[in-house]
Amino acid sequence: MNLDAATALAWLRAFAGLVDERAGELTDLDRPIGDSDHGVNLQRGMHAVVAAFEQEAPDTAGAVLTKAGSTLVSTVGGASGPLFGTLLRRTGKALDGGDLASALRAGLDGVVKLGGAQVGDATLVDALTPAVEALEAGRSPFEAAEAAAEGAASTEPLVARKGRASYLGERGVGHRDPGAESVVLLFTALEQVAA
Ligand code: ADP
Ligand code: MG
Ligand code: MG
Repeated sequence: MNLDAATALAWLRAFAGLVDERAGELTDLDRPIGDSDHGVNLQRGMHAVVAAFEQEAPDTAGAVLTKAGSTLVSTVGGASGPLFGTLLRRTGKALDGGDLASALRAGLDGVVKLGGAQVGDATLVDALTPAVEALEAGRSPFEAAEAAAEGAASTEPLVARKGRASYLGERGVGHRDPGAESVVLLFTALEQVAA
């Protein structure tokens, strides 16, 4: 699919709204396997993104995503700031002139390069990878969000190999990764605006 600037803005505003609604749940997921701040981290970052767009909304979809990514990197201290920031920034830089699926692939590559996590390491990569693959296969944002949700659920029985949850080893088994759940919200927001 192709994305125009207005749809990109609506996407990130919708994501910010979902993060607001679900911040408590995201933070609760981070409690047993992390440091209880994932929802708060992402909420702080997405509030800053929405505020930045109120100051000045970029006029291409690529610039919208790039600005959102840079804002996340500079406002979120936790691992999720650089990771989601890199995802959006790299996707934004790859977007103009191309379609969203291939741009998101560039974003995913950036996340893997930065964080070193592969599918099966129980991180947000486990949700992001199948969602990007769904869009690359020509499936809808709805199906991409479903794929992300399946990927997020798949983290529950796994031993985390990256991020704070990896410090727990076997004790982390049975818990869903919070960052993966945030990726579900990102694609749920896309589904809402791309209808
Ligand atoms: P922090 O762990 O610094 O408190 P957050 O709680 O905001 O940061 O975000 C944690 C999430 O970041 C995890 O649930 C996981 O999805 C993701 N994450 C952490 N490290 C990595 C990594 N190396 N690669 C991919 N994702 C990671
Ligand atoms: Mg945390
Ligand atoms: Mg933290």
